[in-house]
Amino acid sequence: GQCRVFCPTGAISIRTNMDEVWEALADPDVRVVAQVAPAVRVAVGDHYGLTKGKSVMGKIVNALHLMGFDEVYDTSFSADLTIMEESAEFLDRIQKGEKLPLLTSCCPAWVKFVTDQYKDYIPNLSTCRSPQGMLSAVIKEYFRDPEHAQGKKTVMVSIMPCTAKKAEAVRPNSFTKGEQDTDVVITTTELLRMIDNFGLDFAVLEPEACDMPFGFGSGGGVIFGVTGGVTEAVLRRLTNDHSKEAMHEIAESGVRGEEGIKEFSVDYQGTEIKICVASGLANARKVMDQVKNGEKEYHLIEIMACRRGCIMGGGQPTRAGDRTKSLRAKGLYNADNTTIIKKSDENPLVQELYAGLLKGKEHELLHNESYE
Ligand code: SF4
Repeated sequence: GQCRVFCPTGAISIRTNMDEVWEALADPDVRVVAQVAPAVRVAVGDHYGLTKGKSVMGKIVNALHLMGFDEVYDTSFSADLTIMEESAEFLDRIQKGEKLPLLTSCCPAWVKFVTDQYKDYIPNLSTCRSPQGMLSAVIKEYFRDPEHAQGKKTVMVSIMPCTAKKAEAVRPNSFTKGEQDTDVVITTTELLRMIDNFGLDFAVLEPEACDMPFGFGSGGGVIFGVTGGVTEAVLRRLTNDHSKEAMHEIAESGVRGEEGIKEFSVDYQGTEIKICVASGLANARKVMDQVKNGEKEYHLIEIMACRRGCIMGGGQPTRAGDRTKSLRAKGLYNADNTTIIKKSDENPLVQELYAGLLKGKEHELLHNESYE
């Protein structure tokens, strides 16, 4: 069952879901599958005296396996799926000239903000599920096949930088076939507590690779954890130029940086595409009010409710000063730099999935029916 702990600042009490994970891990009839969001990997190391902001994804994978998780996957893989779907949706709306600006939909706190306070713009929200939602749906579908399931029930645990992801997981309009896809969401902070309770010496763990077939995300999927990352990945997807120079040009377009509101334009086949990237709900309000008043016009608006994006999510370890914030962003950009495949559509696992399991089920598994 659920228990309550008190937040370290003493200001609020938050619900924890660690017990549900321990129970699933102890049940021999249950296959426990984890997914780990991009931002988690750059916020864990300093708790164990490792280099601040450096990705420790490999060690996290090893720790989860040791704790008894049967399979561990990377949410940056489904961030690639989000990019595929959202880019297609964006191009379609540009061609038809409708429901613009497209509003990103991967941050549940932002989606709630729109559905509560800017109802006129609900149709503008991308219908794409978040990477968390997409990966859980795909994995659950995979294990609906009795040959894969081998008589075991699958429990999907999602490890997120974010408390709002807990609410997203139980939102019925993001279920598949009426069933909840993500069973339990734990935050980075809860993960740290579980590792410590289990008694692992995290600092000395060897890095390990994720499992297959959903274990690899492109560089575009990894940078989802920082503000501007979704947009940068979409821009990579939209260009036919695969060169290093083209990737560099996108990185320099104005999409990166720590400002709360960034505006810039890019050329897409002779059309000027106007983009706004904002983080923090106060900034989101500014942007949306200007759009509503007709003061500003955009084709694409990316909003993350947390300033600087998920690297500073409410489920991340606290006491992050300016240096930590920058180092976490840098950690994700470095992980992108060292990933050979930069573009979501070039990820061979993504191509395989579209040709196989996802065929004819893209809408059912990757999109929300509505935001009502
Ligand atoms: Fe969660 Fe914040 Fe990321 Fe939104 S920006 S998904 S609220 S961590």
